Amino acid sequence: MSDSSQPLIVGGGIAGLVAALSFAPRPIRLLVRGRLGHEGSSLWAQGGIAAAVGSDDDPALHADDTLRTGGGLADPLIVQRITQAGPWAIEYLATLGTPFDRNTQGELELGLEGGHSRHRIVHAGGDATGRIIMETLIRRVRDTPSVEIIEGFEARALEQDEAGIVGVTAESTGGVSFFPSSQVILATGGVGGLFPATTNPGGSRGQGLLMALLAGAPLIDLEFIQFHPTALDTGTQTLPLISEAVRGDGAILVDENGIRFLADAPQAELEPRDQVARAVWLQLQKDHRVFLDARKHPGADFPVRFPSIHAVCLARGLDPRKDLLPVCPAVHYHMGGIEVDQAGRTAISGLWAVGEVAATGLHGANRLASNSLLEAVVSGHEVAQSLKEAPVRPRANRASPSQPVPSFESRSVGAILGRSLGVVREGKELKSALDALETEIRHGGQPMALLGWVWVWAALQRSESRGAHFRKDHPGQDPGLAHRQRVSIEDWQAHHPDGEKGVPLRS
Ligand SMILES: Cc1cc2nc3c(=O)[nH]c(=O)nc-3n(C[C@H](O)[C@H](O)[C@H](O)COP(=O)(O)OP(=O)(O)OC[C@H]3O[C@@H](n4cnc5c(N)ncnc54)[C@H](O)[C@@H]3O)c2cc1C
Repeated sequence: MSDSSQPLIVGGGIAGLVAALSFAPRPIRLLVRGRLGHEGSSLWAQGGIAAAVGSDDDPALHADDTLRTGGGLADPLIVQRITQAGPWAIEYLATLGTPFDRNTQGELELGLEGGHSRHRIVHAGGDATGRIIMETLIRRVRDTPSVEIIEGFEARALEQDEAGIVGVTAESTGGVSFFPSSQVILATGGVGGLFPATTNPGGSRGQGLLMALLAGAPLIDLEFIQFHPTALDTGTQTLPLISEAVRGDGAILVDENGIRFLADAPQAELEPRDQVARAVWLQLQKDHRVFLDARKHPGADFPVRFPSIHAVCLARGLDPRKDLLPVCPAVHYHMGGIEVDQAGRTAISGLWAVGEVAATGLHGANRLASNSLLEAVVSGHEVAQSLKEAPVRPRANRASPSQPVPSFESRSVGAILGRSLGVVREGKELKSALDALETEIRHGGQPMALLGWVWVWAALQRSESRGAHFRKDHPGQDPGLAHRQRVSIEDWQAHHPDGEKGVPLRS
């Protein structure tokens, strides 16, 4: 039975699981929407986890690559701390039992991805890294008696009193429940599921961001969304990812006439991810089709090098050794999130955030490939240390959930976000998106529209192009905007003299 003095983690991806294990042997509860290990981006991570473990590598080089990719907005101290901890993170996961891919001498096999100056991508099962790490962590968590796993509950709202967090309202098939706790860690993952085309699981819909926003926590870097340039274009909302490593192995991008449109770029198909995404987007805008051609390279090696991607293609009637693979850009990773300090603490007393839902400052305006799993492991551990040191508040008075619970319904908001927060943005479109969201907020009854509003507001304020945020009407960088941008529910309130009137925070 739940004990209100125990901390509560919401979310069972890599970030939540590492936090739970690192808190042991102290008791902690882990609340997940579905069954543990059945949902979340962590299971789908392909490329691997970045760490400076090669003999020619150094965490300082990894830090340099991370800072360069981050478009001037990555926090140097956080970058240094997390890249420095890279070798530890690999050792930690290996000690827990993760079978990383190794050569015949037992050394880690290290892959190369765009933006990295050294081979430093550690992987397991070829392109099944996320699933294999998750299986290892889940086994460990299930064997750890101090972790109470609560499955089948979707957190819907953070409850607080004047001193801070007092618990979480959650919904299951059995109805609404209240989980009292004065220490809550949000580890709810990303946002792709809100958008019309994404590599993320459909359930990654920014729920953690919305709960934090409604509770009054500042969000930061929201405008920076990474699009992956090579999602397999299956015409569905969730698109299978074809890892950058396939291009690293020599696959090229061509249009329907066989023209290699990135041939003249200095690094061709391995230009930074945002630039490749824009090049693909531009071809599609011109009514071309775009294909990944892996027939020559990796060619016959494809099934061995990329067994999971190969199986996904075959299931859709495409053999990468013989067929061109139709691709398009898709929302892949959110650099933005709940603002946290280096211990994962948010602005709300008793609330921590970790993993993709949080913005530590590691990524700045753009994420270096395979840095997110690293961040989830290192920050998961640090959040647990911070929790251990935090004073536990006496039992909270509130003992029942607030009613009614906020809805996470997001269909119309997702369409608006898809139109305005694409690979290439424009002020005119962002303004009309704000109007549409305003209508949704006042008449549509979707709290998700409020998240959409502050998100689009952030993109509108950033009247420049930096990292993953590209404005057609402001294609250059503005040195005056070389800072991170914080937004909160107060931005909405400041623009609406009638305050929250008309905002259905609970529906
Ligand atoms: C296809 C794909 C490939 C990727 N490849 C790589 C890679 O190679 N390397 C890399 O570094 N990164 C990669 N990434 C990114 C990386 O996988 C994610 O950033 C990372 O796994 C996020 O981990 P997380 O623990 O924060 O969230 P997730 O793994 O998404 O877990 C979120 C958890 O929260 C739960 N949850 C959500 N909302 C609620 C709620 N309201 N109530 C209760 N539970 C809730 C979910 O059920 C889930 O258990 C990839 C992402 C995708 C989509």
